[in-house]
Amino acid sequence: MKIANSKVTAERLVKDALAKTKHFADYNIFTFLNEEGALARAREIDAKIARGEKVGRLAGVPYALKDNFLSPCGETTASAHILEGFKSPVTATSVELLEAEGAIMIGRTNLDAFAHGSSTENSYYGPTLNAFDRERVAGGSSGGSAVAVALDIVEFATGSDTGGSIRQPASFNGVYGFKPTYGTVSRYGVVAMASSLDCVGFFTKTPEDMDLIMSIASGKDPKDMTTLDDFYNTSNSSFETVSREPHEASEASEARNDGPERARSRGKNCRIGIIKDFDNEVVDAEIREALKKKCETLKEKGHEIVELEMPVLKSALAAYYILQPAEVASNLSRHDGVRYGFRSEKSSSLDDLYNNTRSEGFMPENKRRIMIGNFVLSSGFYDAYFLKAAKARTLIIEEYNKAFEQVDFILTPVSPSPAFKLGEKVNDPVAMYLEDLMSVSVNLAGLPGLAIPVGETKSGLPIGLQLVGPRRSDKNLINFAKELN
Ligand code: GLN
Repeated sequence: MKIANSKVTAERLVKDALAKTKHFADYNIFTFLNEEGALARAREIDAKIARGEKVGRLAGVPYALKDNFLSPCGETTASAHILEGFKSPVTATSVELLEAEGAIMIGRTNLDAFAHGSSTENSYYGPTLNAFDRERVAGGSSGGSAVAVALDIVEFATGSDTGGSIRQPASFNGVYGFKPTYGTVSRYGVVAMASSLDCVGFFTKTPEDMDLIMSIASGKDPKDMTTLDDFYNTSNSSFETVSREPHEASEASEARNDGPERARSRGKNCRIGIIKDFDNEVVDAEIREALKKKCETLKEKGHEIVELEMPVLKSALAAYYILQPAEVASNLSRHDGVRYGFRSEKSSSLDDLYNNTRSEGFMPENKRRIMIGNFVLSSGFYDAYFLKAAKARTLIIEEYNKAFEQVDFILTPVSPSPAFKLGEKVNDPVAMYLEDLMSVSVNLAGLPGLAIPVGETKSGLPIGLQLVGPRRSDKNLINFAKELN
């Protein structure tokens, strides 16, 4: 990561980043550029360096902010018409922490409106283009952030991940994308999508950068009651393997007689689970091939591959698309045309004002989720849908807990296919939802998941794999990603 010091000034770093935003303008990455603010901030940091004063760990590092993070710098629109004109009076905790270390926000990035989507095509400002192929989608919802890092405009970018919104665009653009354990990074000041699933995370070019950003952004926040203690910075940095009794050894592995003694003597070697149930025709052949190849490399390095049967994960997508819209419907009810941003001018009564503002201000996908959410929560259908999905979520959590008694990490595809063509799925919501097949269960169980770039398809599109670990294994997970290089 390029950091300002005696050799390179913060002003140079910021000017370069801003020049690149112009160069790549037609990718539609940014919803707002912080040109003057970023330069002023850079000059302050340079003056400090010149005076020999202490500067932060991210001194002068240009970064991009997903436009659903609140800060008084520019409007926070979540790429939704209904928030246009909204200037936040508060700053997200993660933004405060990063900027306290000297990071400089050069712009706000495009997303699917309110983070609803997998392609950034649901943005009020139009889609962001894929960094590798301009006829393809950036992925989503954090498409702008992923492309800003992939095109090397910024050193890192923020994202939010409710069902894959960091990991999928990261894999579509060949960068690292991390969704931490639920509660690791404060959600304070991030536009809520589905509060029991939302996680703040990041895009970087290396696992080392991810580790640095996580060590700064994570920790307890009195403003977010769901944050955990600062386990990230107190974790042992080397990966620890699970200790096993002999009977727990997997039959599918050669470790049938693997007692605790041998487990210990394996040192840093890990057991990696692959999910048998995902190895089917739904997943693109080149992605399956990439996964196989990585497994071979891991075996050569002394790690062990264990096949897992996790049939309950097949219900994850259905459960997610009930629970998530239910929470979305509740969270979006606050946008009434009175408190934030856009207000429809046509209205002659208060009911009219609500109706018109919401009809004109939300995107079709936002409305679809509000309708589904209210439907599954309504008295006649609550038991049949919401309650059932909540039970499925518990089973998914239990299935992962069981898996992590056998393995240290699980390796899966991030999404069933590489980046698809613009327009290919935008009119078919179910096809779009299927994009999230491998990512949503990780949110339902609150686990950490890291998208790792592992190669390219024959036609030159990036392929990403997802490494999933037990709750609070975040530091080990990021460290282990280096093994996959
Ligand atoms: N693609 C998923 C959805 O549309 C995930 C979105 C997200 O993580 N914000 O819900």
